[in-house]
Amino acid sequence: MTADQLIATYFETGRPPDLPRDHFIDGRPAVAEAGDRMESFDPGRGVALADFAVGDAADVDRAVTSAVAGFGIWGATPPAQRCAILNEAARLMRAEAEQLSVVEALDSGKTLNEARDDIAGSARLLEYYAGAADKLDGRSVNLGNDNAAFTLREPVGVTAHIVPWNYPTSTLVRGIAPALAAGCSAVVKPAETTPFTALMIADLLVRAGLPAGVVNVVTGTGIAAGAPLVRDPRVRHVTITGSVATGVGVMQSVAPNVTGLTLELGGKSPLIAFGDADVDKVVDGALWAIFSNAGQICSAGSRLLVHRSIHAEVRDKLVIKARALRIGHGLRNPDMGAINSARHLAQIADHVENARKRGVEIVLGGTRVVDPDTGEGWFYAPTILDDLPESDDAVLREIFGPVLVIQVFDDEAEALTLANGTEFALAAGIYTKDISTALRMARRVDAGQVTVNDYWAGGIELPFGGNRKSGFGREKGLEGLEAYTRSKAVTLAV
Ligand code: NAD
Repeated sequence: MTADQLIATYFETGRPPDLPRDHFIDGRPAVAEAGDRMESFDPGRGVALADFAVGDAADVDRAVTSAVAGFGIWGATPPAQRCAILNEAARLMRAEAEQLSVVEALDSGKTLNEARDDIAGSARLLEYYAGAADKLDGRSVNLGNDNAAFTLREPVGVTAHIVPWNYPTSTLVRGIAPALAAGCSAVVKPAETTPFTALMIADLLVRAGLPAGVVNVVTGTGIAAGAPLVRDPRVRHVTITGSVATGVGVMQSVAPNVTGLTLELGGKSPLIAFGDADVDKVVDGALWAIFSNAGQICSAGSRLLVHRSIHAEVRDKLVIKARALRIGHGLRNPDMGAINSARHLAQIADHVENARKRGVEIVLGGTRVVDPDTGEGWFYAPTILDDLPESDDAVLREIFGPVLVIQVFDDEAEALTLANGTEFALAAGIYTKDISTALRMARRVDAGQVTVNDYWAGGIELPFGGNRKSGFGREKGLEGLEAYTRSKAVTLAV
């Protein structure tokens, strides 16, 4: 069926496309040992979509055992062959992009176009790391004595990938693509509200030629499936994208095994607009920095720091544009999709209610809404909180929804203090026409990535990650390979 037919069928009958519903272990679907199931929901309607396997320690044990065997094969596969298989996976992902996009939008609540971008970006990730697979060379070193010396760059072994629900495909692929390029095997634990695309991608990888056991997927909850996975001593690196609380727990879990760790955690990233900035660029930048993916982005520009001289103009233009955003079911491709779960929607609403009780000025939104076409679904109106003090809870805490906080500054020093004024340090956007201001701020702001005059600039070729409580380690770019390889120094007396 074409994507259009899948969508039409879903809206007419409520029947979702065919979905994989069991774990994927050793190159094929695998039933959960205990037989437990749970349901994933369509956030755009707030109704159950399909059930899937709930993994436990026994399932994780099978998956890791399979990954150990898979590593034995894949680690010894010639790099050029790894490269060819990853390229074939990218080709298949493009060929099947529409089906994957429909499932991604349906399961996560994002718009179809956002899902299409995620799938296209994931195909690029596979290609990018395919290109690196046969270039992971060591170096020869001149010791100045009678020893010849060189380094080998070796895969670390079995890797675990704990994935959140806001970017189920792209977060998964940005982890496993470099791991596979390096020769590692993987066990993936998708988020409990978005399990399906990970299962589809594992199957796609096998069809592209990946040997059985190299990528395994165990679905289910963080506690029942994620926790035993990260604790397994056979896992040599864990990459987790999630909340700070989960990241801290995983750090403690991996410590006894001295397992490598990449932590991609939360953010409260500032978009900083100076008085000389192009106001329309600021407004468009801020609009999509916070309302893309309904604000459920770790690196969302969730704080707009604006110079007092342009504050009123920027705020008023932003309110007009944000009010006009069309909200609706992701598969109808509105401007802004749903909130991923009823639980998360309630948390967003609580944050804003508490701000209201503190007397914060809400200049737009501040309410739950429904899909105007159906009266269903889990949605939150685009919301803007104006002129907040730096100590306000809504400034300091990640809300992870379509809620923008505006802070006003009078000079560059204050802008910098506000920008660095939370425990997070993930991304920052700077809007100014003055190249010196831009460069000074880019150097001084604490963030893993800084963009100037275009908030979402960047791509898979650049490293991505955070500082402080936003985590550590870098994904994407050539830096993304570092977690999955280790150097071995070899000397030969001659
Ligand atoms: P979460 O921490 O609740 O869950 C993330 C994943 O961790 C899920 O798969 C979950 O099942 C698993 N998990 C939970 N407890 C676990 C445990 N004890 N052991 C192992 N795994 C466990 O986060 P979420 O609500 O799914 O995602 C939202 C959070 O993720 C936000 O804080 C957001 O900022 C962050 N995030 C960060 C990035 C980044 O790149 N820095 C990207 C996307 C999301």
